[in-house]
Amino acid sequence: MERVRRAWHRWLGWEEHAAPGLGELLLARYPGAVMLVDDQGVVLQVNPDFERHAGHSPDQILGRRAVTLDADPLHGGFSLALEHCLTTRQPWQGVLLCRRANGALRHQTTMIQLLDERPSGPLRLLVIQYDVTGMRERELHDRQLLARLGDTVSRLPGAIFRLHQDAAGRLELLYASEGLVLLTGLTPERVMEDTERLLELILPEDRQLLEMTLAQSVVSLEACQLEIRLDLPDGLRWVEARARPQRRRDGSILWDGLLVEVTERKEEEFKIRRLVSTDMLTGAMNRRAFFEQVAAVQARALRHRQALPLAMLDLDHFKALNDTRGHAAGDLALEAFAATCRECLRPYDLFARIGGEEFAVLLVDTAPDEAWAILERLRRAVEEISLEVDGDIIRFTVSLGLAILQPDGNLDGALGEADRALYRAKHEGRNRICGPVDLEPFGAGSNGA
Ligand code: GH3
Ligand code: MG
Ligand code: MG
Repeated sequence: MERVRRAWHRWLGWEEHAAPGLGELLLARYPGAVMLVDDQGVVLQVNPDFERHAGHSPDQILGRRAVTLDADPLHGGFSLALEHCLTTRQPWQGVLLCRRANGALRHQTTMIQLLDERPSGPLRLLVIQYDVTGMRERELHDRQLLARLGDTVSRLPGAIFRLHQDAAGRLELLYASEGLVLLTGLTPERVMEDTERLLELILPEDRQLLEMTLAQSVVSLEACQLEIRLDLPDGLRWVEARARPQRRRDGSILWDGLLVEVTERKEEEFKIRRLVSTDMLTGAMNRRAFFEQVAAVQARALRHRQALPLAMLDLDHFKALNDTRGHAAGDLALEAFAATCRECLRPYDLFARIGGEEFAVLLVDTAPDEAWAILERLRRAVEEISLEVDGDIIRFTVSLGLAILQPDGNLDGALGEADRALYRAKHEGRNRICGPVDLEPFGAGSNGA
């Protein structure tokens, strides 16, 4: 070892006791294998640490060809690299697979450089190697891990994403997994290029909800969750989004999250909600749902200060119908009555069964003075119903009490008023509408049979 060190120092031109230059020092201390090679590729000198880094003792390599180090001395890259350097007189750099004396294979980053410090003398080459096997193994391991992760992510029943919002509030999808294609029909690449492509699929009201949810999440920095509808060529699709925000130093926000399709679950939910809010016999909404929905309609009406016509309906002499024709016939009459009411009303009007044969109607977006005509049409339509039961024709009529519900008014109060108007209608002979006198189109008592 000492012999090698001295030879090396001699080659570097260090005088005994003279301080070496930085270049010499670097070469002597270089944490890899260094060789001086002649124009036949024969090793002339090696650095002191050569054995540790190349796995061959100086005795094994000095005087032999450098390609001995190659894992495949005949067909490996080492001889080509040396040849390249000698013919082009340009440096060569690359990774060579080398074999240590104990047979272990190592990846060595190799630099080969022509030494031209003695223009008249024979050509010599400096070969510097640095073992990158560990680095390559880690890299390979990372790459395999990444591939496995990518595989798992692509099989997830949904998509994961990273969304960015800059200080100006602009949204940009920085990452989305392959699952986005199944979910939205859009590729992650397309959406990452232009996030609006994805955002424009969201129904306008749900997009508002999304913006509100993100705004709240920016303030709270807490995880957020919402369900949005995408308008896709094959219909509406419900997607649940869950994400966790983090604020970056520049003030922008990043959300990492998950998108999962929940259409089936939402449909089940709607079915159950319909079931619990619907009267089974007539299909009309029940009393509880009616109170809930009226509150929602009132909230909207409040913005436009719109009064809402509200009517109570009660079938006439229904007890007698039950008594003479039987309860089943009574049920049929209730079903026919509800079907007729639905035909006369618009889909967004509220129609509810709030008692045995008592119903309520709330006319949405209808001026009070239009209400009478609508209810009168309904009254006549009920009068026209004829049901055949056991060969007999059943007919019946309905009485209606009309009241006006103010957008900020109390529903119970308005129902009480409608009930009193209904009582008057019964008292005045049934099969008629009673209500605020100023709304009566032809004056009191002009309607009905
Ligand atoms: P009025 O003209 O004054 O309203 O007379 P009415 O007989 O309709 O009055 P009342 O409210 O006393 O009678 C309601 C009847 O409705 C009593 C009940 O048997 C019947 N009823 C309530 N719910 C049902 C139902 O689900 N099916 C059937 N078939 N009948 C019902
Ligand atoms: Mg009745
Ligand atoms: Mg009744």
